[in-house]
Amino acid sequence: MVAMDDVQKWFGDLHVLQDINLHVTPGEVVVVIGPSGSGKSTLCRAINRLEPIDEGTIAIDGDKLPEEGKQLAQLRADVGMVFQSFNLFAHKTVLENVTLGPIKVRKKSKSDAEKRAMELLTRVGVENQANKYPAQLSGGQQQRVAIARALAMDPKVMLFDEPTSALDPEMIKEVLDTMVALAEGGMTMIVVTHEMGFARTAAHRVVFMADGQIVEENTPQEFFDNPTSDRAKDFLAKIL
Ligand code: ATP
Ligand code: MG
Repeated sequence: MVAMDDVQKWFGDLHVLQDINLHVTPGEVVVVIGPSGSGKSTLCRAINRLEPIDEGTIAIDGDKLPEEGKQLAQLRADVGMVFQSFNLFAHKTVLENVTLGPIKVRKKSKSDAEKRAMELLTRVGVENQANKYPAQLSGGQQQRVAIARALAMDPKVMLFDEPTSALDPEMIKEVLDTMVALAEGGMTMIVVTHEMGFARTAAHRVVFMADGQIVEENTPQEFFDNPTSDRAKDFLAKIL
């Protein structure tokens, strides 16, 4: 579903993605962890071409992402992305936030888009907030709207970049529960997170990054119980 082959990226002298080979199969949930600055966000941003790569290829469901043009918008729509900061449109209602992409990019009618939006808002538990503006919602509610907005595009894969790290503790669970339900529903997901509980319960595979490289990858059970690299051992000792 996502195929990254021999991907290289530099920021000036910094080799931020070093020979990344990552293949994610349909329905697979991959959790990416690693120290700050290891390139996790850059990896996510590269997948939907928010960041251009210098070498290698990235394909979504067999389609290699082109560098530019209209096709890029279509392919990008196949990759839902949820960020640490919720990135909702402040001057649009919750419902408008969720229907905008489907109407503009997927060319859905307003009524079809609204019907689907209400289903998704119900699924993430914020259907009562549909006519409010983002600032009137809690952080956890805003993040669930952001998830619904991404899902409204019928993405083939969902990327999450530390979706709970800006949230108060009591709101983290509601967002993680939403993500677990999504994973159980068979969504293909790449999740950057420090929530090791989520990694243990929902991930099929943990990918550990350090200094722009995938240093180690394994099932959560194996990775957490028997990390093999010194850097992974070091990292786990600090966070667990
Ligand atoms: P964190 O856990 O703190 O979010 P990360 O693993 O997501 O870290 P990235 O944000 O991908 O790390 O950054 C990887 C490296 O690339 C860092 O050293 C960062 O300073 C650098 N970097 C990120 N974006 C840019 C940019 N636009 N220009 C130059 N350097 C950048
Ligand atoms: Mg990051």
